[in-house]
Amino acid sequence: MREYLKRLPSQVQELIGLAGDIAEDMNARAYFVGGFVRDLILGANNLDLDIVIEGDGIAFAEKLSKSFGSKLICHRRFKTATVMIGPDLKVDVATARKEFYPSPAHLPVVSTGSLKDDYFRRDFTINAMAISIMGGNFGKLIDFFGGEADLRNKRICFLHDLSFIDDPTRILRAIRFEKRFNFKIEPKTLKYLKQAVKMKMLNKVEPQRVRDELILLLKEERPIKQIRRMQGLTGFDFIIPALSVSKKTYQLISSIEKVCSSHRIIGLWVVYFMGLIDALDLKQAKKVCDKFAFGKQNTKKIIASKRINRKFITSLGKKGIKPSRIFSLLSPLSYEVILLLKAKYNRGIIRKNIDDFLKTYSHMHLGVTGYDLQELGIRPGPNYQKILKKVFQARLDGMVKDRDDQLKLIRKIAKLK
Ligand code: ATP
Repeated sequence: MREYLKRLPSQVQELIGLAGDIAEDMNARAYFVGGFVRDLILGANNLDLDIVIEGDGIAFAEKLSKSFGSKLICHRRFKTATVMIGPDLKVDVATARKEFYPSPAHLPVVSTGSLKDDYFRRDFTINAMAISIMGGNFGKLIDFFGGEADLRNKRICFLHDLSFIDDPTRILRAIRFEKRFNFKIEPKTLKYLKQAVKMKMLNKVEPQRVRDELILLLKEERPIKQIRRMQGLTGFDFIIPALSVSKKTYQLISSIEKVCSSHRIIGLWVVYFMGLIDALDLKQAKKVCDKFAFGKQNTKKIIASKRINRKFITSLGKKGIKPSRIFSLLSPLSYEVILLLKAKYNRGIIRKNIDDFLKTYSHMHLGVTGYDLQELGIRPGPNYQKILKKVFQARLDGMVKDRDDQLKLIRKIAKLK
């Protein structure tokens, strides 16, 4: 693996050198682990650095952050820490640990362990490899479960038969990685995954943990592949029993993909989620938001998408509609809801109006401000906002162009000589 490590950016190589020295001084052992190792072998770009320490992970992180003079965030209870090396580089440090699941789908009991213990608690063989970053062993791949062979053979393979029972969120992870890398879930893993689905294990986990994995899945580059696989394997009743994903839903999701790609957007999961639950009504959507606790902002967006009614769409599609009217309809909506509308109404006048809003109207500014109103001797108050709004509407509709025009209009509105 030395060759792979040497191809990393110089800042990361400097970090590896320092981390190795610190661990050696502490008489501990340090390894890169998880997705970083997987992606290094695959040649995929990934600088999410995860280091596991056999020894005291917190003390190691403290020394590492000190030598870089960088910020440190510690979670002492979990014996983990994050060292913020630079604006684009951070390292997550964990103390090697052992996990024990006292009951299915519940959080495990954790204690300090060896690298091997740490690997038993992971999801798939391809995510359970380590690279030593110390002295004589520098660059050595430690692969207890055959992860490298599974990478070569394009297989997603669990570590033990109870894996999906212990942590059913791994069902979504298996689908996410299978479709991201164009791999296949290995037959035995697939059989146990299906059994866990049959046992409705996804309904037994804390909804917030399912939510987090669902969000990661929807943040993939082309999540329609993952969504199709979910339809085949898990269905969507774990979101809400009433949810059926039809051909129409897929058409909408495919249209969302096109819209996101034309705007060069990756990872706007809320838009895909709104597409996925398009068949639900407002009441059902509220239930889903309550269950998954998406956070205030995201919940607001999801609910707003359900409040778009026929009257709104008719107004937005009216022949000869003025730009100022398009602005007043669309500007209160979030970017995500507007993208959803663009995907839903993907041709004709509505599409054109949305495009005009996104490309032009939403970037327009006035050449005048409240200071100009003050200079003109207009008494400050709520009137200012009203006047500026009128001028802005006139600007959108092409009635006034430059600053002089705008000042003239202000005088007229304020009935000044
Ligand atoms: P990505 O490229 O999507 O970030 P990743 O493999 O880095 O993928 P993370 O979710 O960041 O994924 O997790 C880091 C590592 O932690 C994984 O590689 C895996 O070894 C382990 N892991 C994460 N979630 C689980 C889980 N639910 N069960 C077991 N191991 C997990």
